[in-house]
Amino acid sequence: MTNGEGIKGQGKTLLFDTKKCQGCMTCMLVCSLVHEGKENLSISRIQVIQSSFEKYPNDIETRYVESCDLCLDTPFWNEQGGVDGKQACVEVCPLGAVRLSTEIFTNLEHCKR
Ligand code: SF4
Ligand code: SF4
Repeated sequence: MTNGEGIKGQGKTLLFDTKKCQGCMTCMLVCSLVHEGKENLSISRIQVIQSSFEKYPNDIETRYVESCDLCLDTPFWNEQGGVDGKQACVEVCPLGAVRLSTEIFTNLEHCKR
């Protein structure tokens, strides 16, 4: 998991919990919607990938592309984003699987989940 480009060093990052995520992809759709004005999984800045060959909770993997700005610039969403604002993916996740946090993990395996 990576911090959004341009906001590194401000002590916050998105955390993702594979045990909660059900792979509904709502976060992906809303990310493209607030930034680009259309629902398109391929241009979402969060990518949730579910593998049918792995077992729960290791069947879910997420990646944030470098252009994730923590919703600092969202032309199609009337909310303040960034480290002190809201993130669209956090707001819409029905299971609370993604959240912004100041927690810092030294265990890299933990950071991936
Ligand atoms: S924080 Fe915003 S830009 Fe980053 S993945 Fe979530 S919705 Fe997309
Ligand atoms: S909205 Fe929540 S449950 Fe659905 S894919 Fe995204 S993180 Fe997982």
